[in-house]
Amino acid sequence: MPKMQAEEVRRTADLLVEQIHRLSERPLRFMEVCGTHTVAIFRAGIRQILPPEIELVSGPGCPVCVTPNQYLDTAIAYSRQQDVIIATFGDMLRVPGSSSSLQREKAEGADVRIVYSPLDAVAMAQAHPDRKVIFLAVGFETTAPTAAAAVLSAQKAGLKNFFVLSAHKLVPPALAALLQAPETKVDGFLLPGHVSAIIGIDAPYRFLTEQFHTPAVVAGFEPLEILRSVFMLLRQVQEGVPRLENAYGKVVRTDGNPVARKVLYSVYETAAAEWRGIGSLPGSGLAVKESYQAFDAVVQLPVTVEKTREPVGCRCGEVLRGVTTPANCPLFGKLCTPDHPVGSCMVSVEGSCAAWYKYGSGRWQL
Ligand code: SF4
Repeated sequence: MPKMQAEEVRRTADLLVEQIHRLSERPLRFMEVCGTHTVAIFRAGIRQILPPEIELVSGPGCPVCVTPNQYLDTAIAYSRQQDVIIATFGDMLRVPGSSSSLQREKAEGADVRIVYSPLDAVAMAQAHPDRKVIFLAVGFETTAPTAAAAVLSAQKAGLKNFFVLSAHKLVPPALAALLQAPETKVDGFLLPGHVSAIIGIDAPYRFLTEQFHTPAVVAGFEPLEILRSVFMLLRQVQEGVPRLENAYGKVVRTDGNPVARKVLYSVYETAAAEWRGIGSLPGSGLAVKESYQAFDAVVQLPVTVEKTREPVGCRCGEVLRGVTTPANCPLFGKLCTPDHPVGSCMVSVEGSCAAWYKYGSGRWQL
């Protein structure tokens, strides 16, 4: 960053921090929903420069973290079949299931391959017509359109050996569930920038202000954007008028991305989904539509899955609901580390426990 630009950023940051301190009159808990925000906040040391009254808590916005063990166990069961190739994003590899992980299965001979796009899995299916390629479709509204596009691409190519195992999730129903839970106390949301770029900011989040009277700001990922969003939340609290604001206008439009949503909902439909730590929420997931059932692993490839067990002592569920912090988990940094993760929140780069471990003593740095 050029010197002048860096100085200007520093001055703006100082000003925002000063205003945040001035407006902070009582304890407030703001939830950053998105795992990318969690990492950005830690990396820049933002927690350390906020007044003690402002607590930032992580939410359920890390897709790998909220994927339940039952899904992992199903993927592991598929990976043990001789004619199956599991295609997955790298983060899923090390997440512990009930008794194994995809990484362990791979070490023992399973064909588990990392892909960087769902379309890579389609190409894999084309290259291996004698094998069944199952893509682990994990992620929020941001990644679901590309998974849907992969299904459309497989259909166009006439593939009979490409399948998706959908664990896609929708963010707004999870926020509604958190606000209804008596144990969760949230005074405002830093809404996820990437998800909002797809779903938009008006209709999907209106319930936050109309039903729950909770301030909400769509936030970008640069330190200055996050500070500005915190300031905007505080201003709403002080004015006593909760509203939806967009602090990430350079990327997020009010109506989101209708083209991406059209692709998404041509293949998927909303369905109940199981969230780690939150439970089953109606309308919070995406299931493959009946008209595309030929690509739905659950429908086409029945498999016996072991009985699901949760890791003993792991408090990932509470972390994802924002009711505790990783530091309060007795396993944190002892039995559970990034090298030996006990729960999913310690695996993903967007996981709250991994961020606390890596940046826990981070310093303010733009
Ligand atoms: S530190 Fe590990 S065991 Fe504890 S909540 Fe996080 S992932 Fe679970």
